Amino acid sequence: MQFSDSHCHLDDSAFTEQLPLLLAQCQQLAINRIIVPTIAPNKFTEVLNLAKEYHSNPIKIYPCLGIHPWFLQALDNDHLAQLSALVDKSRHEIVAIGEIGLDGAIAKNAPTHGQTTEENWAHQQHFFDYQLNLAKQQNLPVIVHHRQSHDKIMPFLRRYKLAKAGVIHGFSGSYQQAMSYIDLGFKLGIGSTITYSRAKKTINTVKRLPLESLVIETDAPSMPLSKEVLSNAISPYSESTTQGVKQGAENVTLPVNSPVNLIKIFEVLVTIRAESAEQIAQQLERNIAQLFFT
Ligand SMILES: [Zn+2]
Repeated sequence: MQFSDSHCHLDDSAFTEQLPLLLAQCQQLAINRIIVPTIAPNKFTEVLNLAKEYHSNPIKIYPCLGIHPWFLQALDNDHLAQLSALVDKSRHEIVAIGEIGLDGAIAKNAPTHGQTTEENWAHQQHFFDYQLNLAKQQNLPVIVHHRQSHDKIMPFLRRYKLAKAGVIHGFSGSYQQAMSYIDLGFKLGIGSTITYSRAKKTINTVKRLPLESLVIETDAPSMPLSKEVLSNAISPYSESTTQGVKQGAENVTLPVNSPVNLIKIFEVLVTIRAESAEQIAQQLERNIAQLFFT
């Protein structure tokens, strides 16, 4: 079995010192591809360079360029123009526009940062709209962040009808919400949410969805897995996973989440789904290939 992490912030400073070690551990676990979205303009060059730096590595790093709704407060149209120019220049190095999206909690809290909620929504929507349009022009898929925003995101996706669609990253929600994204060609990024037994709605949704519509992701170093999943060996794969991490990282403190945890998310997915582990792994790889490499 081979695996791809469809969403990992490998450029985060939490990984900088341990990156060669971390990639060696990923290799041991057959995690062969890591998709790295960008969150803000000050990270654009860094993420592009990361892929170049590890170009000859057995594990491939695939960059994406985009501006995340959490980081656009001080940004304006100049930054969007900068993004557009760089996407044009790096078109054959990047695999998606992302991470982009809309975040309801950020809008709600905007007044504590000197913006009204309405102003913040308008600002977020302007950036989302611009970046969807950019993806359309460049025929690229998008990686979409959502939080308390399914109803606001959907009209944008319907309007743009991107040929390559993309990923609804860190999906949590109902079967109906999931299917409305899938009907537009999107795949759902399944991450640590399913490792929490209290996330019943999302787990039941993931159980019923077509396997062709799923990809797995860690969102590391964010989104820690549940403690029970991190500590319990739930399949034969877990033992080697845990040993691999411990041996390699005896003297370092690991961040709360890391791409090696992709295997644990996969194992939980296997317990939720009816198909065999091999069937699931193969289909997940096909889904990644269809999204980013066609
Ligand atoms: Zn992310």
